[in-house]
Amino acid sequence: MGFLHAVYALGEMAGEAVKDSPLADIMNFLQLPYPVTEDKNDKVFAIRVWLEAADSQAEVLDIRGVVDVDRIEYKAISSDRIKIKERCLYRDPVGSNVSWRFSPLYKLGRATKNPHKELVGESGVWQDNKKSRFYKLHNNLLYDYEKTGAFTKGSAERIMADLLAMIERIIEFWDRKTPFFILFGLKSGDNFLYPGEVAAFVNYFKDKLDPDVPAKQKKEQLKAYCALCGEKDKKLETLDKVFKFATFDKQNFLPGTKDRAGVKEKIFPVCETCYGVLSAGKEEMENKFVNFNAIPNTSLYVIPEIISDRKQYYRMASDNTKDFLKNGIRNEQNIFNLLARVNEGLVFHFLFAEVNQAQLIVHSLIEDVPPTRLRKLEELWQESCIAFGYEIDSNGKKGYLHTAISQIVAVLLSLAGKREQEKLVMKDKMIAIISALLNSEQVGIAEIKSLIVARLAGMFTDPDWLSPKEKEQMPGRKKIKGMAEVLDFLYRVNGRE
Ligand SMILES: [Zn+2]
Repeated sequence: MGFLHAVYALGEMAGEAVKDSPLADIMNFLQLPYPVTEDKNDKVFAIRVWLEAADSQAEVLDIRGVVDVDRIEYKAISSDRIKIKERCLYRDPVGSNVSWRFSPLYKLGRATKNPHKELVGESGVWQDNKKSRFYKLHNNLLYDYEKTGAFTKGSAERIMADLLAMIERIIEFWDRKTPFFILFGLKSGDNFLYPGEVAAFVNYFKDKLDPDVPAKQKKEQLKAYCALCGEKDKKLETLDKVFKFATFDKQNFLPGTKDRAGVKEKIFPVCETCYGVLSAGKEEMENKFVNFNAIPNTSLYVIPEIISDRKQYYRMASDNTKDFLKNGIRNEQNIFNLLARVNEGLVFHFLFAEVNQAQLIVHSLIEDVPPTRLRKLEELWQESCIAFGYEIDSNGKKGYLHTAISQIVAVLLSLAGKREQEKLVMKDKMIAIISALLNSEQVGIAEIKSLIVARLAGMFTDPDWLSPKEKEQMPGRKKIKGMAEVLDFLYRVNGRE
């Protein structure tokens, strides 16, 4: 059915898993503040601020002050992603210059050389220093709770005064090796109540999610059929709110046209309910079904879509297919090997994209790729390997599809030389080749060959290309052989039925 329906289905699956959650009605809008990874280098820590309130479940919290601060690893909040979402109550702020956040969670990042100055400014009076973290914490987060009546008057100031008194402990916690965030919760007995466990914080989140639309915008609100479920006359949203890249300037992508009067009504308007499911699906996609290891500086999204009956599929699926659906590909080193071994009855949608200054730039979208196509590619690669005298056994990595893809990447990078601009051109070419492989299209071999020929002469005069000083780089002779293998493989691919 395509990329969008696949993301929608991910959202539905995520919804099934959380239908018993106390926060089920806002679950679609909750996000993980940081991805959960197994990578030790991706550790994140939380500084928990234990607030004392007269009544922790009151509608309006009367905060008396901070009773404690401690530090825990992000992952220690829970081993379960859903639980982390429930507890943190997090959603990305709507912009960088707004004076409120959805939850009492403030991203500190890594410590700097002079953490004291970073927190309160040179003078030590944070109120005078708009760039200091304490100023931002107060003005862009805490004070809005007071302003909107979630906190009693004076609460924000009492919190800030106590944090200032505890600044040395905060600095002790905050180190330069890993990112940190501050998380406010309430002390209840010996327990730390997370934001999602505090009624006032949950209500604040809900209010922020659906603020009263100003009268002027109301008039312009769309009325049309939802493109996903067909409901009419509901409040409609457009896709660019879900996907940063589905903006109206990209005519060829999701919107399919330019933005002008009347266009938004026609182009994939979705109702509020479907918008929620899509948002949840996108969250799954961003957290689980993205991989950064396959192609340099590229986010490769692989969205699975079960095209057979979902329940039956789960019953029949192998363990590694189930693992793949549950855990995704974020931590996977050899994703194409994994994908080639997933059970039939689903298809993949591949999205090659690049994050550039908070914008997602889409390079290529390949829809509806069955696992059999990947297995066929792997067979063709093995034919090439055998033709070049390799033995394909079950222990060797050479015969796997991921090796073929990695080799295409390596060959094109080795042709790029050292200039950044050239590397970008080569990256576009490698994405074009891999997209063609996935999409059952012919690969333009003539172009690749002329690229190789044009560059080889120069490369043979470069001693560093022939025998590189860096150990991880292949010597020239090996690179030439690698190129020949890739070309042989691409010929076989072009000859496939
Ligand atoms: Zn709908």
